[in-house]
Amino acid sequence: MWDVAVVGGGPAGLAVALEAVVRGFSAVVFERRAGNVDKACGEGLMPAGLAALDRLGVLSHLDRADSAAFESITYVQEDGRAVVGRLPPPGGLGVRRTALSAAMARRAREAGVDLREGCAVRSHRVDAAGVTLDADDGATRARLLVAADGLHSPLRHAAGLHLAPRGPRRFGLRRHVAMAPWAPTVEVHFAPGVEAYVTPSGARRVGVAFLWEEGAVAPVSFDALLGRFPALARRIGGAPYDSTPRGAGPLRQAASARVADRIALVGDAAGYVDAITGEGLTLAFDGAAALAAVLPSALARGATAEALAPYERAAARSFRRYAALASLLVWTARRPRLRRAALDGLISAPALFEALLARATG
Ligand SMILES: Cc1cc2nc3c(=O)[nH]c(=O)nc-3n(C[C@H](O)[C@H](O)[C@H](O)COP(=O)(O)OP(=O)(O)OC[C@H]3O[C@@H](n4cnc5c(N)ncnc54)[C@H](O)[C@@H]3O)c2cc1C
Repeated sequence: MWDVAVVGGGPAGLAVALEAVVRGFSAVVFERRAGNVDKACGEGLMPAGLAALDRLGVLSHLDRADSAAFESITYVQEDGRAVVGRLPPPGGLGVRRTALSAAMARRAREAGVDLREGCAVRSHRVDAAGVTLDADDGATRARLLVAADGLHSPLRHAAGLHLAPRGPRRFGLRRHVAMAPWAPTVEVHFAPGVEAYVTPSGARRVGVAFLWEEGAVAPVSFDALLGRFPALARRIGGAPYDSTPRGAGPLRQAASARVADRIALVGDAAGYVDAITGEGLTLAFDGAAALAAVLPSALARGATAEALAPYERAAARSFRRYAALASLLVWTARRPRLRRAALDGLISAPALFEALLARATG
């Protein structure tokens, strides 16, 4: 009988397992894919997320050639004018997702997590004494099942916790180019209906992610989307690609609750608004820490929904803060005239931009 069985070996699942074992609980993680898992992601870690990775002991396992520090966020208007806002300490880090997966998996195994790669969980049953998971390698019993199975979380649906999301359907696509980053900053370029996020993610790698609303751009391909940002396309020049394109969406996903008897949702599985704030990883690490903090009392009380309620409240608080900002930015991005005016305001008041950034990311 494991204390915690985690479905999904992404950043959220591995962080939960790590947080659990350092508190003395046993943890097993099932990840359906094998090797260093890749995913559509802008790969920018904001200061709080970077601090969490440091606290979890992951940073020392990161291959530095696959990451690059950044110290600011730069918003770029269509005409090329820009505002730069410095991030609060310790700044940010662009990390290639495969390198983050590798470092987190290594640290998790070193700490005592049983990480089963290439092993999908097919179904689960909850009873009074625990939960049974049917995985590719057979049945496993645990006191608590953690669903960290990503944006479209089959477990959120199976547990009856899925809520039909409301709001615009936005999608993301990312790819990397092999070139030295030109500045230690994450650039956000705006164009009608689409934004481009440019993140240094290695000594010789720059990640480019696009976010757009369904129907706002066509055709949807990396080159066509890049074509909407002529200055960025010129900057990249003919640099060779360093990865294949990966997409995700619709990004907005909702849960009616993050807990049920013997079950807790963490990371994107617990709900997501948009990648526009670059906070998904930070939110996942926050959620993992909040869940681990309630484990001693929740497991002692049978991991019922009631016993897990303090996690629900803590996660809901973080999510509300993130969702309010992400929704406001998406709302603004969908209104090009308003967005231009707002960005002009920030360009003329860089101190305000920096203060807002510090509040949002510190
Ligand atoms: C275009 C884009 C740009 C983004 N940019 C940023 C950014 O710059 N900064 C940032 O912080 N965040 C960003 N995000 C968000 C970030 O990528 C996510 O919030 C983060 O990956 C969530 O991690 P997770 O572990 O919850 O989910 P995932 O990383 O999706 O991991 C879920 C894992 O569960 C596994 N799984 C699913 N079902 C099963 C099963 N039945 N059995 C076993 N395993 C299973 C999957 O294989 C997967 O590995 C971006 C997202 C997108 C789409």
